Amino acid sequence: MPAKKRTAVKKRPAKAAAPTAPSAPAVPDLPQGVLDLIARSNRLGSDPTITNYGGGNTSAKVRQLNPATGTEVELLYVKGSGGDLGTLTYAGLAAIERDRLVALDAQYRGVDHEDEMVGLFPFCSFGAGGATPSIDTPMHGLVDLDHVDHLHPDAVIALACSADGEKLVQKIWGGAVAWVPWKRPGWELGKTMRELSANPDVIGAVLGGHGLTAWGRTSAEVERRSKKIIREAQQYLDSASKPDPFGALVKSRTPLPEAGRRARAAQLFPHLRAVASADRRMVGHFTDSPVVLDFLSRRKLDKLVALGTSCPDHFLRTKVRPLLLDTPVGAPLEKVQARLAELHAEYRVEYQAYYDRHATASTPALRGADPAIILVPGVGMFSFGADKQTARVAGEFYVNAINVMRGAQGVSRYAPVSEADKFSVEYWQLEEDKLARRPKPKALAGKVALVTGGASGIGLATAELFAQHGACVVIADLDAAKAATVAADLGGPDKAVGVAMDVSDPDAVTAGLAEAVLAFGGVDIVINNAGITRAGSLADTSLRDWDLQYSIMPRGSFLVARAAEPVLRAQKLGGDIINVCSKNAVFAGPNNIAYSSAKAAQAHMVRLLAAELGDIGVRVNGINPDGVVRGSGIFAGGWGASRAKTYGVAEDDLGKYYAQRTVLKEEVLPEHIAKAALALTDGSLPITTGLLIPVDSGVTQAFLR
Ligand code: NAD
Repeated sequence: MPAKKRTAVKKRPAKAAAPTAPSAPAVPDLPQGVLDLIARSNRLGSDPTITNYGGGNTSAKVRQLNPATGTEVELLYVKGSGGDLGTLTYAGLAAIERDRLVALDAQYRGVDHEDEMVGLFPFCSFGAGGATPSIDTPMHGLVDLDHVDHLHPDAVIALACSADGEKLVQKIWGGAVAWVPWKRPGWELGKTMRELSANPDVIGAVLGGHGLTAWGRTSAEVERRSKKIIREAQQYLDSASKPDPFGALVKSRTPLPEAGRRARAAQLFPHLRAVASADRRMVGHFTDSPVVLDFLSRRKLDKLVALGTSCPDHFLRTKVRPLLLDTPVGAPLEKVQARLAELHAEYRVEYQAYYDRHATASTPALRGADPAIILVPGVGMFSFGADKQTARVAGEFYVNAINVMRGAQGVSRYAPVSEADKFSVEYWQLEEDKLARRPKPKALAGKVALVTGGASGIGLATAELFAQHGACVVIADLDAAKAATVAADLGGPDKAVGVAMDVSDPDAVTAGLAEAVLAFGGVDIVINNAGITRAGSLADTSLRDWDLQYSIMPRGSFLVARAAEPVLRAQKLGGDIINVCSKNAVFAGPNNIAYSSAKAAQAHMVRLLAAELGDIGVRVNGINPDGVVRGSGIFAGGWGASRAKTYGVAEDDLGKYYAQRTVLKEEVLPEHIAKAALALTDGSLPITTGLLIPVDSGVTQAFLR
């Protein structure tokens, strides 16, 4: 009987359609309409003039068999909440049975209750439903045409945020593109879109203070229309704009030359990070693109900055307005610090007042009162976020805002939505729910770790483990090419960067630290791991070998700690310094005078620095590894062969041979040292400083007393 049943099911057409259900997303079996939607979304999302990162959404309606009933249903496939068009895949689409979504109108209680509609979307899901449907779902689902694009192009938002936007839209498109006054996304906006799209002469709408929505019968048609509207908006701005929409250049805000600008940015960044991180630890992103520098050097800068950003999903990341540093371009650091402290205090008071002006009993709690964007005329823009990608995107959004302001000022006057409307999006319960759905931050999220000698062995294992736990990692190594490769393998500039650094050279250390700071806004964890070994008896140790080992290990650790200290101090976020020493720092083995005493110097530096840096919350600890053969460049570079010969074992068995000499009889691997470094920095040992941890499987002669 069961076999018979299976055969019967196999013959049903519904079975043939099954692979298209969300639980079986085999790409070749997807309906053409969905394939077209994904391809179109990727094209639109990869052009920054068409939409910002994560901004906008697209949809297609397709008819498909429901494998559960064997009947055909109309499905709405729409980009889900939180995704990005440029990288959209099938998994990022919500799948909704359209007739059920449309029927929700019967439940709609009016604009004051429209948020509750979002709670009903899951009841319209097709199968498992795919991604979480976003608040923009009605804008797609209620339109009767099969394809809809909702986008955030700077050129269209410039019109949407112009004081006389409605008139301009009428002038450019004469009714083919409608004007919709600002309305928070939701059911009501969806109904408006349905009415407008019912008119065959209207191809789309400019949404006041927000963006663009266009529709079409086919994917090609809506894409053509979206691009046409954006192109024509840009052409209008280009032809009708008055010169210098941001006003004349201000001489005292002339950008510094590139090298000086970047040096200044590196000097200021840790101080600015402290300002952005008073409530919550942030990492930073720096931009000194021509668009930013031009805006920062114009007369109307102060006035425009005060008006804040424009598009709803912009100010969620950028905050309602940036902090503008108003000290002269070349002012001494102490003056800048003093003024920054004043401006920060003012910013926090104003932000709290903004919250208090608009919050009601049901408003989500204040999310922190520090700025996310700090503008420094003559230098550039510093943006901040809980991780590097968020910080970078916040900066990109403010560049969008600059483009929008330039366009609007050129043809009209920049007039973003009212403060109350901005607040209603920034502290929208639905946005709060979206934030709550994010995964719990990893243990090292928001921290920047600099690992010297990070391109090989123990340093590499530490860099990998730290990146896995959410840290931004700087691979600082003599071998710059290898450092760059490791950084790329760890996920590229949002996760890791490689910097060339000879830790024995003070200038190279200063330059490498500055690069690290420019990449992520500062440094929280310093791992002094770079090292070499040149073993030998007293008689065999040349002065060159002595100096070389001392220059890299104690001197290198000193130079890196000395360069990092002002950064750690300025950030006001505490921090960690870890010296990777050695069991040889303790154990007086034969024929190793230079290496072992150099390691002992590094180990004692741990205690000295721990005592000195406690007042700025910096913990200083050390790790004493032993016998890490696997992955170690030190052992691979001849040292392993010589040791193996000495002990009469094969070089490949050296690790196991060392293990047999230990209490636990375990081979020590680079990952073991990395885990010790993680335990010292992930909050497990928050009040431990001045400690040396042996990671050696138990070498009794190296037990600490
Ligand atoms: P490794 O050779 O695999 O890695 C060392 C890295 O340091 C390399 O990438 C190298 O390019 C870099 N480096 C060398 N000189 C540098 C300089 N002047 N500036 C910047 N980078 C430089 O070595 P490993 O075995 O991973 O050792 C890492 C650290 O651990 C060293 O300090 C070493 O003394 C210590 N240690 C190793 C062992 C072991 O058994 N492997 C045991 C105890 C301590």
